[in-house]
Amino acid sequence: MSEKKGADRRDRKSGSPPRRGRIDLRGLTLTEIEQFVSSLGEPRYRADQIAAWVFTRGVRGFEEMTDLPRALRERLARDAKIARTEVIERELSAIDGTEKFLLEYNDTARIEAVVLRDGDRTTGCISTQVGCRWGCSFCATGTMGLKRNLTAAEIVEQILALRRNIAPERLGNIVFMGMGEPLDNYDDTMKAIVIANAPWGLEIGARRITISTAGVVPGILRLAEEDLQLNLAISLNAPVQRLRAEIMPIAGKYPLNELIDALAKYTKRRGRRITIEYVLLQDINDSPEMASMLADLADKLPCSINVICYNETKKAAYAPPTDKTVERFLALLRARCPTVVRRISRGSDIAAGCGQLCADDGQSR
Ligand code: SF4
Repeated sequence: MSEKKGADRRDRKSGSPPRRGRIDLRGLTLTEIEQFVSSLGEPRYRADQIAAWVFTRGVRGFEEMTDLPRALRERLARDAKIARTEVIERELSAIDGTEKFLLEYNDTARIEAVVLRDGDRTTGCISTQVGCRWGCSFCATGTMGLKRNLTAAEIVEQILALRRNIAPERLGNIVFMGMGEPLDNYDDTMKAIVIANAPWGLEIGARRITISTAGVVPGILRLAEEDLQLNLAISLNAPVQRLRAEIMPIAGKYPLNELIDALAKYTKRRGRRITIEYVLLQDINDSPEMASMLADLADKLPCSINVICYNETKKAAYAPPTDKTVERFLALLRARCPTVVRRISRGSDIAAGCGQLCADDGQSR
């Protein structure tokens, strides 16, 4: 564990704001903001005012906090900061209204975030890391390698950036399915979720928040003990260890049998169904035998299964299966599993679909 991670972890447990450098207000809970304002000799109600500016109004600078005295705004500018992003590119799908944002943080790190629209439901697909260390063979993000984790403040800012840019449209749901493995950046992702969910924060209901993991077993077990009623999705993509390890190197570290055990513990502890995500790759995992083995696995877990066709990227050698193959696969699954959904990939014309996000050099298209 790095020194910084250790410090963040202690801060989350103790509720004390981190002390090093200028404190980033976008990454603080209300209790931590209270402690911070009290350390400045200010009354408690200033914390409510600051939280309203930072989270509800999503301001980008202290000068905008017009109900705070000038001296306090100047002090905040000296001792604190507010994570910021700039929109570098914004692309709208002509097919389904999906919108992709290329966002840049202060240190020039770039990530992609996506707004998905389905009727009156608007969902933000959020990144938790710059790149990813796992290198799944069907995923453009994996080709970047891991550059760094995003901080809780940067994740919250990402959600706010989407909100700001689509206003007055409301971002009611968030899914952590963007760039990176959220459970590899557990503390910052969870802290961002606490802030996103809180009434003093972004006020997004826990049941409207989904974490998607490629299968980080210790993270799943830890998540089982959290208080929030979040949704959990597993990017499974292969029902057997050998094939899974071939296309998802994470299976070498956390084998399929251990993953299924962890998911069984999770569902038992939470009393909630999980979602299994299965990306169909032509001639790789789309055979009737695979459908049957997937159904065997699903028998062991309270789950629904989302089947989605592979989105082509320039960096991978796979193809999506034919419609006939997809229908055959779905029919076999549906004969055995109660909830099977064919998910239609959104935003594939702007490389905003599942597995297509990449803020490296634009070659995902
Ligand atoms: S699918 Fe997820 S875990 Fe795999 S490389 Fe892509 S971002 Fe990482």
